[in-house]
Amino acid sequence: AKSEGRGNFQFFSQAMNAATHERVMMETRLWLALGEKQFELYLQPQVSLASGEVVGAEALLRWHHPELGMVAPGRVIPIAEESNLIFAVGDWVLVRAIEVLAEWRREGMDTLRLAVNLSARQCQGHELLPRLDQLIAGAGVDPSRLELEITESTAMRDPESTRGLLRQLRERGIHVAIDDFGTGYSSLSYLKLFAIDRIKIDRGFVTDIETDANDAAIVTATINLAHSLGLTVVAEGVETAYQSNFLRSRGCDEAQGYLFARPMPAEQFRRFMLEGKAR
Ligand code: C2E
Ligand code: CA
Ligand code: CA
Ligand code: CA
Repeated sequence: AKSEGRGNFQFFSQAMNAATHERVMMETRLWLALGEKQFELYLQPQVSLASGEVVGAEALLRWHHPELGMVAPGRVIPIAEESNLIFAVGDWVLVRAIEVLAEWRREGMDTLRLAVNLSARQCQGHELLPRLDQLIAGAGVDPSRLELEITESTAMRDPESTRGLLRQLRERGIHVAIDDFGTGYSSLSYLKLFAIDRIKIDRGFVTDIETDANDAAIVTATINLAHSLGLTVVAEGVETAYQSNFLRSRGCDEAQGYLFARPMPAEQFRRFMLEGKAR
């Protein structure tokens, strides 16, 4: 029994080593990716449900690795978060996002708003605000065209510092949205604590709207709650006409999802907008 236990331990530590090895490999590849321009920022349209017009986009990170192919951000971000890479990756995203806003302004698409995801550690450091100021001033873009998405759980890690950060973002005219709303275990009291503009209803509540009366009720209540607090609401993961119609009938302001468009490269987004206008 003793030797068996030891064998198990060895097996376990081998598995650990493999996992560590895999992580270190991915970290190295991520560092290289930054230098070798393997990242791309995709844009997914956000549509006004009242007018049907595209009013903005969410920026979503894409990593094209020469051998691994397209690596999903759901894999990239956690690895980056565990190392200090998140600061470099997050900064790359901010730089590119501000560039996109500057391109839009030159193209006359300056009424569009661009939403950018912030990771937890990006929100905690003291670098974020001065860096945003520098990038926005450098590119001469309107800060109110920028929206930052933070998740409920990011916001609640350190409510006091989040409160300070969001207040300072608001002073600059930068918008803030709470992402994945309803998926955390936090109380609703933070809604009055934080200076936010929007709530994003998580895809998990939208998917089964048609068949699950509870989800439909939660979505309806969330829309009403947001509106009574003076916030706008975006629903994510909208894939069917039923979902879109339901959300519109409940007064949801905007929607985002495969029904309208998948995330796409910036150049394709530009064409998407131009064609949309011509129609
Ligand atoms: P998220 O912020 O909740 O982003 C929405 C995710 O839903 C995106 O996945 C998007 O492609 C996907 N999606 C949009 N519409 C639909 C739909 O109709 N159906 C389905 N099934 N999915 C839809 P993606 O691009 O794989 O990103 C996954 C997560 O990775 C994001 O979730 C976000 O948490 C994180 N992420 C992505 N880009 C960044 C970034 O630049 N910085 C940070 N910190 N996190 C990022
Ligand atoms: Ca998001
Ligand atoms: Ca989300
Ligand atoms: Ca999500």
